[in-house]
Order: sequence, then structure tokens, then C-alpha cells
Amino acid sequence: MSDKEMQVSEADLKGVNLKETQTKAQESEMSLAFKCEVCNKTYDWPLCCDEPMELEGDNLVCKVEGCGKSIPVPECDGQKCKPFIAKT
Ligand SMILES: [Zn+2]
Ligand SMILES: [Zn+2]
Repeated sequence: MSDKEMQVSEADLKGVNLKETQTKAQESEMSLAFKCEVCNKTYDWPLCCDEPMELEGDNLVCKVEGCGKSIPVPECDGQKCKPFIAKT
């Protein structure tokens, strides 16, 4: 594992773990993002209602009550980007 980049598991992105993962990342001056494995382009983690959206399969869902907005995971070069943690 490099000190510049960390893989995140799906379990790290569920419910309360998502916030913990994000807080941990920020403590190391890193941030949660999506990355294209083809060209290494990164995409900011989507926020909705000032909260990080939660990963559910191929979608990102806002868990704030009364919102429930859902957007697809960012794509690049026709491929789904992968969640990861990187130096900002
Ligand atoms: Zn790409
Ligand atoms: Zn929302």
C-alpha cells in the first residue's frame, strides 16, 4: 500500500462507516474520491444535502431523510470509476 493512495472496501462505504472513512482520510490529509483505473483521472466524491452520498451497487444515494436522490457512479472511458482514498 502506498502512502499516497488507499483502496477502500465496500464495507468502508456503508452507513456510519462512510463518515468514519472520510474522517480518517481527512486526518491524513487525504480524501475519498473516485478514480478511473484506465487514465487515473479522479472525481470528487459526490455530496448531496451537505452529506457524502452512499454507495449502493452502481449508484450513489443520498441518505438524508426526505431527499433520497440517486445518481450513477461516475464513469470514464465507458468504465465505472473505483472508490479510493488519495492525497489531496
Ligand atoms: Zn478514464
Ligand atoms: Zn440529498
